[in-house]
Amino acid sequence: MALALEEARASLRRGEVPVGAVVTGPQGMVLARDGNRVEAMHDAGAHAEMLVLRSAAASLGQTRLTHCDLWVTLEPCPMCAAAAGLFRIRRLVFGAYDPKGGGVEHNARIYERPGSLLVPEVVGGVREAECAALLRGFFESRR
Ligand SMILES: [Zn+2]
Repeated sequence: MALALEEARASLRRGEVPVGAVVTGPQGMVLARDGNRVEAMHDAGAHAEMLVLRSAAASLGQTRLTHCDLWVTLEPCPMCAAAAGLFRIRRLVFGAYDPKGGGVEHNARIYERPGSLLVPEVVGGVREAECAALLRGFFESRR
């Protein structure tokens, strides 16, 4: 999560919503790390999670990330939560909870839907205070 936080801070410096994500392999090796690039790529779907899932799969030359873990500073939105399932992520670890936009513990609750895809083990609230403080600072500065 320390690396994901670094990526979130880098996103902030680029003027993006500060969310960072990392994919680690079965032995904990870092396969991909990145932050939000929505503004930079002019892509509303360029969430940190989407970028690292794709990049990790490409670096492994595999379509799926079985036995890999996704670390992200914010509870994933429904799109990213569904993507983590499609990529067969083993464990999803996130920092801050997102009652407004989150799709794991809130709103769509993607993994609780009947007929849900492969569901990762979910661990929320890891280094929550630091992850949330970054986001709070960003949104307060924009008001
Ligand atoms: Zn997302």
